[in-house]
Amino acid sequence: MPPQSLPATVESVGAAYWAMLQRIAVLAACVDTGFLVLYSLLGAKTLALMNLGSIALYLAVWWLLRLRCNSLAIALVWIEVLGHAALGSLLLGWDSEFHYFLLLFVPAIVVGAPARRAVPMMVLLLACYAGLYAACETWAPLSPLPPLQLEIARWVNILLAFALFYATAAFYRQRVRAAEQQLRRLARVDALTGLSNRTHFHERASAELARARREGRTVTLMLADVDEFKVVNDRHGHHAGDRVLASVARAMGDALREHDLLARWGGEEFMALLPSTDEALARSVAERVRAAVEALDVPNEDAPLRVTLSFGLAEVRDGDLHAATLQADAALYASKRSGRNRVTHAGDLGDPPQGAPSATTEVAPARARRDGATRRTLSPRRRRGPPPLPA
Ligand code: GH3
Ligand code: MG
Ligand code: MG
Repeated sequence: MPPQSLPATVESVGAAYWAMLQRIAVLAACVDTGFLVLYSLLGAKTLALMNLGSIALYLAVWWLLRLRCNSLAIALVWIEVLGHAALGSLLLGWDSEFHYFLLLFVPAIVVGAPARRAVPMMVLLLACYAGLYAACETWAPLSPLPPLQLEIARWVNILLAFALFYATAAFYRQRVRAAEQQLRRLARVDALTGLSNRTHFHERASAELARARREGRTVTLMLADVDEFKVVNDRHGHHAGDRVLASVARAMGDALREHDLLARWGGEEFMALLPSTDEALARSVAERVRAAVEALDVPNEDAPLRVTLSFGLAEVRDGDLHAATLQADAALYASKRSGRNRVTHAGDLGDPPQGAPSATTEVAPARARRDGATRRTLSPRRRRGPPPLPA
């Protein structure tokens, strides 16, 4: 099972927003060109000139966004919308419905402004709206239109306001859905390796085990741990360690079969569920994965980094994943104690004396050792402290 693609980064979401704004600037310039023609035909020269100004402003917005002057571009958009609504209302009167465009600031304020500024900004917007209404009530329209032309201008504004509210809501809905998807993926996928995390592994494994029990198939659990990984971190830094983990995950995914479930179990440990796999087959699958990782060169500044894996295998009996995990852990422990870079099956752990390597599949010593990496004493695994090998 190959690693899943990693979630989109915050930067790419931000970039999508500015790209969307750039498209809107072009669209707005086109719409204003339509208005320029409409008002010229209706004989409203002042309004036609106002639209000419709007076109220039939106082209400036587009250009500023290209130059990444995003704050200035946003400021220009605000100036254009405010100016357009105010001038249109003062020129044609309140009934021209230009004031609807002020309401477009409501979602922009609620979504875009910091929470503590949202309420003051809303109050300011309401004050602008009320002020514009009062001005229109106090003074007659500066450039009145005959009734029919006014009615046309009015309905064009109403339609445009509806379309803009729809587009705004659709944009935010799309953003919420994308964020939901990203959260769902983050809850399942390990960000470093792109593999399933432990929770997602459990979900998928439960379904697979239920199916295997119904069909009477054997399932084997495979636990793998990177050998001497602390040495990689200590010598080459955590970033290099991270790259090694990502490469190991990829190599494991490539070496496993399509229907095997692979997950990052935590730290430098990986767990795989091998469906329809008995002991002999599990050994050969694990051996293939072991050899693939042993042969892996992870590019690094001076020389490529190399690591090996130790494996513990256990058959999952009666769908009991927990019991199989403990057995696989004990088998992995045996692999570590008997020299690392090897595969041990829980079935091997019966009789041999503690520390004896006879139960494991012997392979060449870890490449890290061969390449001169500092060798630490083979101490018992510290973290989980599984039971020692039977004496
Ligand atoms: P052993 O062969 O006994 O497993 O030795 P080890 O050094 O691999 O085991 P140990 O438990 O001593 O060290 C595991 C190291 O893995 C320590 C920890 O900092 C590192 N590690 C765990 N998760 C990450 C990670 O996400 N990135 C990096 N770079 N290191 C990690
Ligand atoms: Mg380790
Ligand atoms: Mg470990």
